Amino acid sequence: MSTIQIKDRHFREYLSQDEIQARVDAIVQELSGKFSDKHPVFIVVLRGAFMFASDILKKFNHPCEIEFVRLTSYAGMQSTGKINITQPLKEEIVRGRDIIILEDIVDSGLTMDFFTKYIQSLEPASVTLVSFLFKPENLQKEVKIDITGFVIPELFVVGYGLDYDGEGRNLPAVYQLAL
Ligand code: 5GP
Repeated sequence: MSTIQIKDRHFREYLSQDEIQARVDAIVQELSGKFSDKHPVFIVVLRGAFMFASDILKKFNHPCEIEFVRLTSYAGMQSTGKINITQPLKEEIVRGRDIIILEDIVDSGLTMDFFTKYIQSLEPASVTLVSFLFKPENLQKEVKIDITGFVIPELFVVGYGLDYDGEGRNLPAVYQLAL
């Protein structure tokens, strides 16, 4: 089991590249079954979901559009609880469309509670939330995740798009904090 160091912390592998890619394939199959003839709009939540979204979208071989939003709530290893949209969305692209949100991780649920309500307020035809990871133990808001990559315990994780203090996003596997 490989161990890495990022800044002052040690992390050990938690989800391998193979496990992740197998789950990505299954998610793409599910999305293709539902949306192959719907011309959905994928909304990629930056920055954490970039790698998950890239893997999903390379394999989703149907007409679609791709938009990006940037939401911030974390500082270091703590959520601040205050959500900001720092790269906003073109609102007219949401109205009447089938929206698929690609998120990296739902932890307290505050970010996706805020964002799914915002998207709903723009009157889409449908909203599907796909989250690569879900940490149910820390959930503070009831968020309906339609497709979850992996349900994980209360761990701080890095890699596959997720960072620790700005680093580690480029790792192709997911690592957990080694205490
Ligand atoms: P929530 O609002 O659900 O508490 O948090 C959502 C955001 O917090 C995620 O999009 C992600 O950026 C960040 N986050 C939550 N848990 C972790 C974690 O274990 N590792 C990292 N790197 N970010 C996390």
